Amino acid sequence: MEFRSVSFRGSYLRAQDRPKQWFPQIAFAGRSNVGKSSLLNWLLKQSVARVAKAPGKTRTLNFYLVNDNLFLVDLPGYGYAKVARHLREQWGRELDAYLAKEERIAGVVSLIDIRHSPTALDLELQGLLKELGLASVIVLTKADKLGRSKRHQRQRDVQSQLGLPSPPIATSVAAGEGRRELLRAVAGLADSWRELQQERTHGTEEEKREG
Ligand code: GDP
Repeated sequence: MEFRSVSFRGSYLRAQDRPKQWFPQIAFAGRSNVGKSSLLNWLLKQSVARVAKAPGKTRTLNFYLVNDNLFLVDLPGYGYAKVARHLREQWGRELDAYLAKEERIAGVVSLIDIRHSPTALDLELQGLLKELGLASVIVLTKADKLGRSKRHQRQRDVQSQLGLPSPPIATSVAAGEGRRELLRAVAGLADSWRELQQERTHGTEEEKREG
């Protein structure tokens, strides 16, 4: 997969404001400063997301329509608020509702800085995704900050910490690494979601014929 066309579709929070198209949504999450905006711009090959903005200010979801059949959704960064200690408190009820109720979420790409162990909030997010039955792809960002062997060690560490079936993807926007792997993972999430939709539609048609 390659992203042929990209357009910013707006910042929304409430369900009624979100785009109406029945396309899969791939959400991107991570703590503030993890490199999420940089990664999105790099992935989309254009400067659509704002890099190094004031952290923890926006609580909206930014929608990017890709190839006219898929949305990438930039979720607010977490980890800066001093008062709310839990992810769900920090993100607020609306975001919690987005993850819990939006049926078009095909998966969540969770970003973790390769130099640091997953934070308590990163772990909470993984717990939440599991609880909601949402597919999760882990990406270790800023891989250029470590040498090869350290990098592989961190991939193995995070794999065992999070109990992943395979090592997480390591990306570097600065060195241009891991883009193809990440695109493949995004395409995989979207394909699985589409298959499920087809099974559902097919299932109901069969039920109609039978009924
Ligand atoms: P966000 O808050 O998660 O959106 O993070 P940003 O995209 O604003 O990035 C935070 C900082 O990390 C910025 O100074 C970026 O230039 C830097 N950064 C992002 N990605 C990389 C990377 O792959 N390698 C390096 N060395 N720095 C990066």
